[in-house]
Amino acid sequence: MLYSSTRGGIDPVPFKHAVMMGLARDGGLLLPESFPEVSEQLQAWSHLSYQELAFEIIRLYTNDIPDADLKRIINRSYAAFRHDAITPVVAVGPVHMLELFHGPTLAFKDVALQFLGNLFEYILGETDNELNIVVATSGDTGSAAIHGVRGREHMRIFVLYPDGRVSPVQALQMTSVTDANVFNIALDGTFDDTQAIVKQLFNDLPFKDANKLGAVNSINWARVLAQTVYYFYAAFQTMARTGKKKVSFSVPTGNFGDIFAGTVAAAMGLPISRLVLATNENDILARFFNTGTYKTSNVVSTLSPSMDIQIASNFERWLYLYSGRNAAKLKQWMNDFNETGILTITSETEAGNLDPLLVAGRADTTQTLAAIADFYSRYNYLLDPHTAVGVTVSSKYHEPDVPMICLATAHPAKFPETIEQATGNAELARTPQIEALKGRPTHRTSLPNRVDAIAEFITEQISAQARKTRK
Ligand SMILES: *Cc1c(COP(=O)(O)O)cnc(C)c1O
Repeated sequence: MLYSSTRGGIDPVPFKHAVMMGLARDGGLLLPESFPEVSEQLQAWSHLSYQELAFEIIRLYTNDIPDADLKRIINRSYAAFRHDAITPVVAVGPVHMLELFHGPTLAFKDVALQFLGNLFEYILGETDNELNIVVATSGDTGSAAIHGVRGREHMRIFVLYPDGRVSPVQALQMTSVTDANVFNIALDGTFDDTQAIVKQLFNDLPFKDANKLGAVNSINWARVLAQTVYYFYAAFQTMARTGKKKVSFSVPTGNFGDIFAGTVAAAMGLPISRLVLATNENDILARFFNTGTYKTSNVVSTLSPSMDIQIASNFERWLYLYSGRNAAKLKQWMNDFNETGILTITSETEAGNLDPLLVAGRADTTQTLAAIADFYSRYNYLLDPHTAVGVTVSSKYHEPDVPMICLATAHPAKFPETIEQATGNAELARTPQIEALKGRPTHRTSLPNRVDAIAEFITEQISAQARKTRK
């Protein structure tokens, strides 16, 4: 399989190359040149374990990794999960919950970042090269990326988070990791500041090349690919349980990475009736799919912080496919949007036809809290605030004869303050994985909100470790 850029400016590259490139060198996003059609295999695949299914799907997109190596990478990636099914599906009231939070950091990002960590290690080991990952986080991505990379050879990770602006649990999940290749940087600034600094570092090409910088956010195709697997797995479980021939999914959405993986599964032939795109008050994507116009506004802080995003990076992949893989048109759309902050693709009356698969809506703070309280009192099941947004929006699009699978993207114990607010009981949101972190030694470096200070810190740490290895 070869990968090309949405902006059309690079020669197609094979899988491993695409993974290391992350963002395409022309500024676009990488996509496979086609989506393999697998309708004929679905019946046989429906009995596979999660790891076996992951192998069958991922190998269709990689012809540069031998089967035995790919199997080993996959098995290692999911060994750290606390549930045998990796991503179990649980019937709760009117819906089926796809629990994606049984990985090391209790959020769905582990599913892809454990895989990406192993993949990086494998590729770097072949070439004896090294990679220094730099990532900005508002909470979940940082800890999942750290746990994907900690203790591995050939890799270091530098995580920038806004000091005092991530939740106490999220901070603890990052700073209690004290491996020598993990650097937590508490920045004296906001999340936007951390993102701006990371962008500046990546745009400084001499610095980027000299320090072998790498990216782990969902612009990396390997993350989307790993997430495609659980759409298949959950559909098989749910169809077997209900006897139905198709399913719908509700997806709490921020950067559009997770739901894009659902569109890939559908393109491969998985019988999906609807993909419900659910946002919080930061509803640029919900507005787009209902009006045909993509227009930014200010980011507001909500109870579901991992979805507090205005510019959804993976949306470019959807737009490119919508354009009929027309890179020239895509480029023009992106330029127009960058200049004006507005992109109109179609009229409001025709917006419903933008994508036969996608429907979209939003849930606000009151609805989110009500959904958590309601699911707890009726079904004795705790929703995290992101999942609660998806559950709320799903009810509007639930067709009578099609099972609705709601993606549970985080464990409620990551958000004890919200659980207490919704149910009146903070004790409900305790879990041994988080309790065990309390009182552990923590490590972080506080740095000022200046790109030169961050750049200097990164360079110093890399050369200090290189000196040590040489001795
Ligand atoms: C990252 C995240 C999301 C949003 O996923 P995207 O792929 O960015 O759309 C939703 N819920 C949780 C808990 C997350 O960490």
